[in-house]
This record gives sequence, C-alpha cells and structure tokens, in this order.
Amino acid sequence: MKEDFLHYIWQHQYFDKTNLTTTEGESVQVLRVGMHNTDAGPDFRETLVKVGEVEWSGSVEIHRKASDWRRHQHHFDFKYNQVVLHVVWEADEAVRRTDGSLIPAVELKSRIPHAMLQTYEQLRRAPDTIPCASFWPRVPDITKTMMMGRTLTERLELKGEEVLQLFNQLGNDWEATAYQLLCKGFGFKINQEPFERLAGALPVQVVRKHQTSLFQMETLLFGQAGFLNDPADEYSASLAKEYTYLSRKYKLQEQAMQRHHWNFLRMRPANFPTVRLAQLAALLTQQKSLFSRIIDTDEPKHYDALWQAPVSAYWQKHYTFGAESKATQVQLGKSGAQNLTINVAVPLLAAYASYTQQLRYLDKAVNLLEKVKEASNKVTRQYEELGWKAASAADNQAALGLYKLYCQPVNCLRCAIGNKIMKQDIPTT
Ligand code: SF4
Repeated sequence: MKEDFLHYIWQHQYFDKTNLTTTEGESVQVLRVGMHNTDAGPDFRETLVKVGEVEWSGSVEIHRKASDWRRHQHHFDFKYNQVVLHVVWEADEAVRRTDGSLIPAVELKSRIPHAMLQTYEQLRRAPDTIPCASFWPRVPDITKTMMMGRTLTERLELKGEEVLQLFNQLGNDWEATAYQLLCKGFGFKINQEPFERLAGALPVQVVRKHQTSLFQMETLLFGQAGFLNDPADEYSASLAKEYTYLSRKYKLQEQAMQRHHWNFLRMRPANFPTVRLAQLAALLTQQKSLFSRIIDTDEPKHYDALWQAPVSAYWQKHYTFGAESKATQVQLGKSGAQNLTINVAVPLLAAYASYTQQLRYLDKAVNLLEKVKEASNKVTRQYEELGWKAASAADNQAALGLYKLYCQPVNCLRCAIGNKIMKQDIPTT
C-alpha cells in the first residue's frame, strides 16, 4: 500500500471512527480534517482534533509505519513540531517531536473497510492501460461526464501554460507566439519538428517585413527550409535568386535547414511539406495580425477560412518543385483546418484567458472544441471501446486529459470516477 491511499482515507475520512482512540487509549475526535499539503512539511495543515479533553490545532502527518517518522528524520525537523496527530497504518513505535514530547498516534489498520482496500489494490495492480476498465460500465454516466469536463479544463489550462512559457521566451510578443505555434501546427504529425525548427530559423521580425508579398514569403520559407539549393525549374530558380539577396540582407544562411530534414515518406502528395510551406506562405501573407484574428474569430468555419488561404498559382499545379501535376488538391483540407483550430487557436485562447484573467476566452476555446470534429486516436479509442462516445473535439481532448493526467499515472484516488468506484456505491452486476 502507498501512503497516497492513507492520505485519501484521511482526506475523505473513510475509516471507522467508532470509539476512536490513540495508541495510548485516549479518545480522538476529528473536528477539522485540514488541508492537504503537497509541499515540504506535514501532510495536512490546519487540522483540528480533540484528544482526550483537549482540542489541538496543528498538522497531521501520515505514514504506513509509525517508525517511518524516525526513518524520515522528522524527530530532528522543526517543521514537524506542529504535528498534533500521527496517523499510521501500523503503529510499530511511539514517535516524538524535537523537544522529546510524545505525539498522539491513531492506527488505521483495523478501521479501513476491507472492500475499499481491495478495490484500491485492484486498481493499482490492474494490467489494463485504463486500470478501472472492469468497473467502467457500472460507473454512472454523470460521474464520467463530470470528470471529463474537469479533465478538459485541466488539459486546456496546461496547454495555456505551455503557450505562456513560449510567450515569455519570445519577449511577451503574442504575434511571435502565434507565428511559432502556427509553424509547428503546419507540421501536423510527421513534420512537426522541422516546422518548429524553421520557425526558429526564420525570425518573425523578418517575416513581418515581407508579409505583403506572397513571392517573398515563399522565398523566405522555402529558402530557409533548404528547398532552393538546387532549383528544379524556372520558378524555383527565381525564388532562389531572391533568396540569395534576402538571406544575405538578413544574415539567415547560418540557420538555414537542408532538404533532408523534411519527411516525404509514406505521405499523400497533398500533405508534402512543400505543399504545407506554400499554404503557410499564403496564410502569412493574407493575415498580417494573426494573433488578433485568432482571438477575435468566433465560428469554426471562420477559423477554417483563416487557415485556408489560397496558395500561389505555381502551387495550384505542383506538389513539389519541378513536377507539374494535373491534380490541384493543394488547398488545406477541412480536417487540416480543424487540426489547426484545435492545436493553434485553442491553446492560444487558453493562454490569453490565463494571461488576461478573462474566462470568456477559455469559454470560447471550449465552445470551439465542442463545435469541431476530431478523429479518434489510439488513446481515445480505448475509452470508446469502454462505451464513451466522443461527439466532438472537446470529448476527445477531455479523454486525452483523463488518460495523461489520471489513468496513465494511475491517479485513481484523485479521479471522480475512481472515487465512485472506491466508495463502492456503484450498482453491482
Ligand atoms: S484515473 Fe479514473 S478513469 Fe482512470 S483508471 Fe483510474 S479511476 Fe479509471
């Protein structure tokens, strides 16, 4: 058993308190459980307990064995002098503060419901990737929906924090942050890393100076990406010529990438990185204030229109340089646009909500996700197999949050679904 379980038992007071006494035989009444402390120091603060006839206000420290107090050197640690009750699974020895005074102890071994202990062990040792899979069908839908709502918010807050870190690194520049996220977003799954690298290789300050010309935007992107070193036709030669001038002007050559950094393998031509770069160039030329547009846009279809800027005439007939094609599927498709809404617009909205302390931006992010579709993936399919129906990207993102923050690290004791299961108040089959 882990100490976490005893914390959970104390926090929810799930133990038998009939004739509760200390190991010395004095009666104990819990008047206030206290606040769980995850920092250094005792486990629960601001606890109020009555031991015998005296009320004590202070902290509670929890251990599996009372002797852990000594093992952890708490008897030398002044932070633990405020402990008024030692709560243990097994009271194998008496413990004292730094001044030698005895700390009252309560032993829980015979007071925790056996079924709860068994369920906890079952969840902890389950071989399934979702440890509560065997309980899942019997947990009420309302509990699952509530928990999914919580994990969606927690996931968005985490994504927002990541964006705020980037925002800080970029000198508190929202447009630069949006540019970095957009580049990463255009890499989708396969070319995310090179697109991220490209954003670093082509400073947003240079991009800003050439956003009025689609030709120069393509020059800068394709040049820094390493696609203009060996021109394959007249158009790429003209871009290469312009790149020679611009790269010298802005001293860009040192950060320039090579063609081999890009992945073309097992990809439909419409998803080639060359096509994505052409789409990105079109978007950057069409939207001068990308961040403001993202924050001000409301409907998913308006976001789709924002991402789907028309590419140049050359890229309407090419998937790569030098190979003309009859097919013209070079416009960013619906699912690509939705992907950018989920991975660029939503995290930016979450970050802006946290930065400005305006919840309406977080609500907007949630509303957007509720209106957008997202294909299931390896993780979300596990919940679908258990009967969870994902109707929108919001449901998918909630399931991803549940998996990453709770199920994968087996955080069942912090999960509303786990709590329902632990309390055994679900109908039995
Ligand atoms: S964290 Fe919650 S949903 Fe995940 S396995 Fe545990 S109880 Fe189930």
